[in-house]
Amino acid sequence: MKSISRRTFNSKFSKGVLGTALMANAPLACGMGTGQNSKKLGIALVGLGSYSGGQLAPGLVNAQHCYLAGIVTGTPAKENIWMERYNIPQANVYNYENFDTIANNDAIDIVYVVLPNSMHADFCIRAAKAGKHVICEKPMAVSVAECDAIIAACASAGVKLSVGYRMQSDAYTNEVKRLVREKTFGDVNYVSSDASYISRGNPDQWRLNRALSGGGALMNMGVYSIQSNIYGTGTNPISVSAQEFSTRPEYFKDTDETITAQMEFPNGTVGHMYTSHNANGNRLYVGCTKGWIELNPCHSYGPLAGRTSDGKEISFPHQSQQMLQMDDFAEHIKSGSTNFAPGEMGKRDMIIVEAIYKSIREGGKTIALDLGNMGIVQS
Ligand code: NAD
Repeated sequence: MKSISRRTFNSKFSKGVLGTALMANAPLACGMGTGQNSKKLGIALVGLGSYSGGQLAPGLVNAQHCYLAGIVTGTPAKENIWMERYNIPQANVYNYENFDTIANNDAIDIVYVVLPNSMHADFCIRAAKAGKHVICEKPMAVSVAECDAIIAACASAGVKLSVGYRMQSDAYTNEVKRLVREKTFGDVNYVSSDASYISRGNPDQWRLNRALSGGGALMNMGVYSIQSNIYGTGTNPISVSAQEFSTRPEYFKDTDETITAQMEFPNGTVGHMYTSHNANGNRLYVGCTKGWIELNPCHSYGPLAGRTSDGKEISFPHQSQQMLQMDDFAEHIKSGSTNFAPGEMGKRDMIIVEAIYKSIREGGKTIALDLGNMGIVQS
């Protein structure tokens, strides 16, 4: 079951040997000729924590349409390390206070906000006001109102916006979308998705602090479950009901530990999601009238794995999801190609998050959703 398209196997595979940190700082895309579209767009990462350091910066090393041009950090000790490792000039290094002067720096095309969730809106809006295109990490913000403010700021500045939904650029995700769209196994009548891990770290970490995270497992891994329920059916839910479970209240003092939710989709399809900071789960099951599709693992950085009811494996060569995601967005900016994770998608997921929390507050009551096709991207 290998259906290789541009998004699953492309020229990125043939340039592995060029993937050094220094090449990443070459502003011209290798082998792409000259002209507007041959320029690699410069990305500045805001927040140099574990995701920026472990996934995004390494992903940019092999990107074809963008490169790591700058950094924004509140920790001066990180500046030299990053400048040396990624060949970043001092002129492209900012802190949280002087960040707005990035408006004057033509080397930076895109600002990628990788801070704790409650800081996304402020920095995305500041980036838009500085005239930079914006990538906002997931979850997009801590409320629908903040998502609206980010979308409005980007629209009024005339800059492009996307959410850090790396799965939307992943080959396995797109294969599930294709199988669902083409009804290879008939109509979908059940979808189930787990996205969870066991949190045992520092109880004072920002993810367990509601003021910084906006919530617990649901705000962290839960958005993946929401996403895979939606691409597993190809439609938005029309209602949701939810339950919360707690077994370690002494550790999860401020945020949700485990949440399950049931979604109803327009054609009667039933969706189930499980998200937790207290169990390992990483799976998508799509039950159809003539078979089924499964990804397991499904939401991690890869390599992922999948199979279908006809006994075939879903298998693709591994590529950095983050590289694909940032290249997809850079291409969108340069050529108007599809934005696979627009702001409306992040806002839609936050509407569902708020409905899930409302349902829990109201004892599991079913909350109606009126999303239409909001955030559904055909690919
Ligand atoms: P992290 O804790 O490793 O890094 C957070 C960064 O923010 C650090 O550099 C820290 O110094 C900085 N920071 C600034 N103000 C802070 C404050 N008041 N409290 C704590 N840190 C502060 O977190 P991370 O794992 O890199 O996550 C950052 C963002 O990226 C989050 O929104 C998270 O949801 C998202 N993320 C996304 C993925 C993905 O797969 N798309 C994976 C991991 C994280």
